[in-house]
Amino acid sequence: MPEKETLVMKFGGTSVGSADALAKAVQIIKDARANHNRLVVITSAMYGVTNLLLDSALFAAQGKIDSLPGTESALRERHFTAAEAMIKDGKLRNAVKAEINVLIQSLVNLCQAIAILGEASPRALDAVASLGERMSVRLLGAGAADAGTQSRVIESTRFIVTNAHYQNAHPDFKATTDKTREILNPLLDEGIVPITTGFIGATPDGVITTLGRGGSDYTAAIIGSVLPAHDVWIWTDVDGVMTTDPRIVSTARTLPEISYGEIAELAYYGAKVLHPKTIRPVVEAGIGLRICNTFNPTHPGTRLKANDQTNGKVNKGEQVIKAVTAIRKQKLVTIEGRGMLGVPGVAARAFGAVASTGTSVPLITQASSEQSICFAVPTESAHLVLDALQKNFALELSERDIDRVWATDEVAIITAVGSGTRNTPGVAGHLFSKLGERDINVLAIAHGSSDVSISLVVETNDTENAVKALHELIVK
Ligand code: ASP
Ligand code: MG
Repeated sequence: MPEKETLVMKFGGTSVGSADALAKAVQIIKDARANHNRLVVITSAMYGVTNLLLDSALFAAQGKIDSLPGTESALRERHFTAAEAMIKDGKLRNAVKAEINVLIQSLVNLCQAIAILGEASPRALDAVASLGERMSVRLLGAGAADAGTQSRVIESTRFIVTNAHYQNAHPDFKATTDKTREILNPLLDEGIVPITTGFIGATPDGVITTLGRGGSDYTAAIIGSVLPAHDVWIWTDVDGVMTTDPRIVSTARTLPEISYGEIAELAYYGAKVLHPKTIRPVVEAGIGLRICNTFNPTHPGTRLKANDQTNGKVNKGEQVIKAVTAIRKQKLVTIEGRGMLGVPGVAARAFGAVASTGTSVPLITQASSEQSICFAVPTESAHLVLDALQKNFALELSERDIDRVWATDEVAIITAVGSGTRNTPGVAGHLFSKLGERDINVLAIAHGSSDVSISLVVETNDTENAVKALHELIVK
């Protein structure tokens, strides 16, 4: 008996990245519909397409449109090959190809306009980037229809209402709730599966926006929370959230369960499992979330569970560390000087200066002597950040209240994630012993602001060894 509850499923770029993947997605939709009367499907662009689109716009801004015909045919080739392989109904197939062709033509028009202006505004970039999902949704929709699933393709620009912060737009939840229900509920009531675009929305005036790179997960969370759905399933190309990157540690394995707090930390610290903004709407709406593998659909994947109520303290013998991640290509910036002692406002000014460069800071530590503040920034921003700090503290530097502002060579931030890392005695000790055994030097530590992670900074060359060492602490 199909359930009355509503299920939202999102397919990522690799899950719709080829004819073969799309066929699997179509089958998954069919099977899910057999068990759920109310099903909503969201899709990303085909793998690599968003990058290709944005690159052509950025080239166009430099006046380079020579590669445009090549891009056009690459897009046609990707989408048409898939259409031919999976849509048996000739009429439907031709209709979809014609629609995709129109979208490809609008890429050409947009790029030509950008080339003439010599500039790609954020608004124009969103119009360009949106084409990936607008093409893939038509393919997936036709594939599902061809396989006999009653479905309807709808662009999410019709109901995801956002502000005009192009490239990283913020949804207006009130307007989005009203529109989503108004447009999707009548279809769901009839058992029709709406198949819609991830990543994109529109301003109240109807101008296309995007929710930020990787934003399709967020779309799924928004739709799930406003309907509301009982469950959101994110279909990707791995068996859920893993204990670490399997390319570094071959024994990495899938975590059957993870708490919201833990996954938020993982998403933040470099594990590309979920767009970080996805978590909040689902937690607030109390909706279940599952991450599963399009290429291994019978695997249960990873389930998110509500944060545990143990106050972060884990019983003896229970597993504390659940996963280990690494963020590479960082530098540690240090501001040091005896004249900083007890002077209020140094940190505020320092981070104000960093913020003025548009850089976000993943890790901060300060010695209690107050003689140094140290934080990580992405390597590519380190230069800008140092300049901004030097300008801001020019007076203190000339008076030697601040001795120097400097950045290390490239480093990596290794994060051990698990609830209870703060309140369970001995966890930090274990981490340091493991690293010590392998002669890995720890350059900085951050621990405490969240009770679900400890981050350590190591030299770039030690990245893999540090991940391997800490992964040994995960109980089998
Ligand atoms: N296609 C968009 C991107 O590549 C959104 C997504 O796939 O989640 O960023
Ligand atoms: Mg993604």
